[in-house]
Amino acid sequence: MSVKRYRVGVLGATGMVGQRMLALLENHPWFEVTALAASEQSAGKSYREAAHWNLDTPMPEIFAGTTVRRCEPPLDCDFVLSGLDNSVAGGIEEAFAAAGYPVISNAKNHRMESDVPLLIPEVNPEHLAAIRVQQEKRGWKKGFIVTNPNCSTVGLVCALKPLADAFGLKKVLVTTLQAISGAGYPGVPSLDILDNVIPHIGGEEEKLQSETLKLLGSHGAEGFRNAAVTVSAHCNRVHVRDGHLECVSVEFEHAAQAEEVLRAWRDFTPAVAKHKLPSVPVPFIVYREEQNRPQPRVDRATGNGMAITVGRLRACPVLQHKFVLLSHNTVRGAAGAAIADAELLAAEGLL
Ligand code: NAP
Repeated sequence: MSVKRYRVGVLGATGMVGQRMLALLENHPWFEVTALAASEQSAGKSYREAAHWNLDTPMPEIFAGTTVRRCEPPLDCDFVLSGLDNSVAGGIEEAFAAAGYPVISNAKNHRMESDVPLLIPEVNPEHLAAIRVQQEKRGWKKGFIVTNPNCSTVGLVCALKPLADAFGLKKVLVTTLQAISGAGYPGVPSLDILDNVIPHIGGEEEKLQSETLKLLGSHGAEGFRNAAVTVSAHCNRVHVRDGHLECVSVEFEHAAQAEEVLRAWRDFTPAVAKHKLPSVPVPFIVYREEQNRPQPRVDRATGNGMAITVGRLRACPVLQHKFVLLSHNTVRGAAGAAIADAELLAAEGLL
């Protein structure tokens, strides 16, 4: 498929998520980064000076000499990806949308608003219909805001979607073991996390519980309608650099055998498969048969960091089935998620 090349601006380009975006966009077939922006303390510096580069691949040379701009329109680009801190993302993203830029955001600020799509391309592409409602309501002609979910929500919802479609979901219990990079830089102090597990991540359980319902819900003339499923989450920060592991129990409306669950994951073909989005791997759910998988260090790079690895499907004596899943939190859970959203917008002619 031939898609026009689009110019991208990255807001929050110096942060953990911003760095991942640049690494993923360096050789992107549809997108070219033409503007980098961050806080006042970074503006005016070269990207090399401003960013505390934290990935295990080198900083792409093509960005190192670029001057970082302030996060205010106009920027020299067709749309913006936002990896901004929650404390500032809300107002800055609205300013860009009002100035005519499509904004795809990682931040929590707009996710649950009644006219803003919370998007996973493989799960709920039909929610993009809310963009028109949003533009009418806010008086925005060309600009709009689309969000991607919290990093722990993405893996869970991708694994649940085929099961919800096949059997109907009633109840979900999830316990997360979340990587340190999910807290940004410098994030959790080393003396708190070394040799330790912290059984609280502010606001995380609430996000996992509420975002899941919006993502698995519908969008129609009356707006978004949440899925009728009960979700209970326990969230823990663990001493792992990248990759969120989640232990999940589920109860279905229509009972299913383990083989049917495996088949539902294996046979699920997302509606967006027709677009061949560059960042969406095929398959995007990978089941591992080994008893001791998935593991963060071993499995997080599966599908270029965009696949969800699932394993250990077995009977749950409390609900019906239980399993373990892993997703890369700064790729599939953040930067790669926003890029995949942008690819779907491009393929649908919405950029
Ligand atoms: P981070 O490493 O702390 O980076 C924050 C970015 O925001 C930096 O580029 C920073 O620029 C910029 N910024 C801060 N204050 C600003 C201001 N007043 N004006 C303009 N820019 C400002 O955070 P992160 O981990 O990348 O997270 C970014 C967003 O993604 C957050 O909303 C977070 O909740 C969300 N998210 C993160 C993850 C993850 O796994 N890390 C996953 C999903 C979602 P300076 O460098 O100039 O300060």
